[in-house]
Amino acid sequence: MTHLVLVGGGHAHALALRGLALDPEPGLRITLVAPERYSPYSGMLPGHIAGLYGFEAMHIDLERLAKAAGADFVRARATGFHGADKRIALDNGENLSFDIASIDIGITPDLDAIDGSRTHALAVKPIGSLIPKLEGLIAQAQHPDGPRRVLVIGGGAAGTCLAFALLHRLRRESDGRVIDVALATAQEITPEINAAARFFLRRSLRRVGITVHEHSRIARIDANGARTVDGRDLTADAVLVASHAQAPAVLAEGDLARTPDGFLAIGEDLRVRGQDAVFAVGDCATMTAHPRPKAGVFAVRQGPALRRNIRALVRGEALSPHIPQKDWLMLIATGDGSAIASRGGSFAFAGRLPWLVKDRIDRKFMALFDHDALPTKS
Ligand SMILES: Cc1cc2nc3c(=O)[nH]c(=O)nc-3n(C[C@H](O)[C@H](O)[C@H](O)COP(=O)(O)OP(=O)(O)OC[C@H]3O[C@@H](n4cnc5c(N)ncnc54)[C@H](O)[C@@H]3O)c2cc1C
Repeated sequence: MTHLVLVGGGHAHALALRGLALDPEPGLRITLVAPERYSPYSGMLPGHIAGLYGFEAMHIDLERLAKAAGADFVRARATGFHGADKRIALDNGENLSFDIASIDIGITPDLDAIDGSRTHALAVKPIGSLIPKLEGLIAQAQHPDGPRRVLVIGGGAAGTCLAFALLHRLRRESDGRVIDVALATAQEITPEINAAARFFLRRSLRRVGITVHEHSRIARIDANGARTVDGRDLTADAVLVASHAQAPAVLAEGDLARTPDGFLAIGEDLRVRGQDAVFAVGDCATMTAHPRPKAGVFAVRQGPALRRNIRALVRGEALSPHIPQKDWLMLIATGDGSAIASRGGSFAFAGRLPWLVKDRIDRKFMALFDHDALPTKS
């Protein structure tokens, strides 16, 4: 039997494992390693905060998925990746030997980049820890002396849609009291979308009253809010950090090739450079010949390609290249049943339709992991 170890329950692994559940590869034994049973689909987090999706709607049940694929599910965190020895070290002290391994463990916030963020801020990742903290914040906001001013640090697509979602939810639940949500970002807002879409986005932010502090790099967070590197104070009762993502430190533990900024360096066939039997996918990997921003759209496309190349490796066949797309659709929900779409250098659209498209894409993705959509294994 060939032993495949999948480390991390990110989007790419979830899709690859689903493919192997529906069409099992003879002679392949699979182990899935993840620290939590439920893996969040972060594209639906703003909708969850806004109250549109329940917990189940935005989480993949990894244990159920593993069972459907006849795989072992090991609830642990990897602490080292040893390609030469073909073993993965785990935080429970065990070492898992593999014939083929794949790593999909996402990114992690660089909280040390901002003084005080560990003590005084909520970090957007891991999402599993963020959700109960945000629910706590929303509950506190219902009290007359609860938090009124929220500052979101990070003006990328994730931070921006979180700001919209929080504003709408807090206003709805705070009994008519004034709620202020502000965004601080080191560059201009959402540099990843085109100028026309950014125009629509700025207009939506203005309309709902979210104050945007562009070109405002934050140096410090304390109990009163945040201070920019040029000494301006942004007062807030609660601060959420959605910026400064970095490669997980654990990727440095072992002998796998990395990029200068610490991500696993992969080739077009998704294998880590210099490794015959170790793949890496999703945000934790950078395809050195075709680097792309860290986004779920790429992880999702890598899932089926990973499954194909795992099969090819098991069968001793040639692996196929997977080149990430050059332009892609970005959909930023504005929390009010609308969204802003951006594709390439000029396509932009704002309103109800992009939201319906986003909602459909997200629900369709999650439906792939419904109980009824997976084979039953005893
Ligand atoms: C609020 C928000 C909204 C977003 N919206 C969008 C969007 O609309 N469109 C889009 O394209 N992208 C979006 N993104 C980005 C997108 O969510 C990520 O790019 C995507 O989740 C990356 O998927 P992944 O496969 O790398 O793994 P992830 O989804 O990051 O999952 C990694 C998994 O690995 C596990 N893990 C971590 N460390 C270890 C370890 N040491 N050992 C074992 N397992 C481990 C984690 O528990 C987790 O289950 C958003 C992000 C956020 C925060």
